[in-house]
Amino acid sequence: MAEPLRAPASAHPLLRALILLGAPGAGKGTQAREVARLYDVPHLSTGDMFREHVAKGTELGSRAKPIMESGKLVPDEIVLGMVEERVARKDCAAGFVLDGFPRTLPQAERLEEILSCLPLRRALAVNLLVDDEAVVRRIAARRTCKSCGAIYSAGEKMPRVAGKCDVCGGTVVQRPDDREEVVRQRLATYHEQTRPVVEFYRRRGQLLELDGSNAIATVQRDLFALLERV
Ligand code: ADP
Ligand code: ZN
Repeated sequence: MAEPLRAPASAHPLLRALILLGAPGAGKGTQAREVARLYDVPHLSTGDMFREHVAKGTELGSRAKPIMESGKLVPDEIVLGMVEERVARKDCAAGFVLDGFPRTLPQAERLEEILSCLPLRRALAVNLLVDDEAVVRRIAARRTCKSCGAIYSAGEKMPRVAGKCDVCGGTVVQRPDDREEVVRQRLATYHEQTRPVVEFYRRRGQLLELDGSNAIATVQRDLFALLERV
């Protein structure tokens, strides 16, 4: 397997919101974590934030849980409140990577307003292209750490000790919404509600597209190369 990428001394500071778009299972989470590590900025995954709320049993978590398990979207105002609070924190000053957000047109529009108040460069969206059948196969193989959200894949990248997260030692399981019947609904939700977000960024000249069907390390290299050329 290829060596993991190290942050090259030449990496430019990010200084923007980098938005990863793509179907569920397209690799947003995996790539977002890596790219955030390379640029040393926070990785903001709304899915992880909701799962944290569910794990902690907060009120927000109990509202989100049944929606997530049915493959539908949590209402915009809940997501937006959470994101708005998060990007206002100090650690986001040098930029951040958004994963799983925005997922609807109103979320994208509101994000642009929020960003216009922050001293950052124009946001960039990267669309990871993977076809639906590949996505269904990938999600069937996906396992996730219950504690830190680290992502594993049967066949490609499993924990060194079975069932135990390499990063934090937490328990690695299949997400309840990664069961096949839920995945089909999530894909339908994606095509219906999130595809328009891709067009939103395309129209605004803020969209980059990347083949997400290759191995993790290859996509990572391609993504990084793309970003350093911008
Ligand atoms: P994936 O990208 O693999 O589908 P995520 O972890 O990003 O999964 O999201 C899991 C679930 O959390 C979604 O199916 C949805 O119910 C909820 N969710 C996450 N982000 C958002 C968002 N921006 N807007 C609405 N719901 C969201
Ligand atoms: Zn973990």
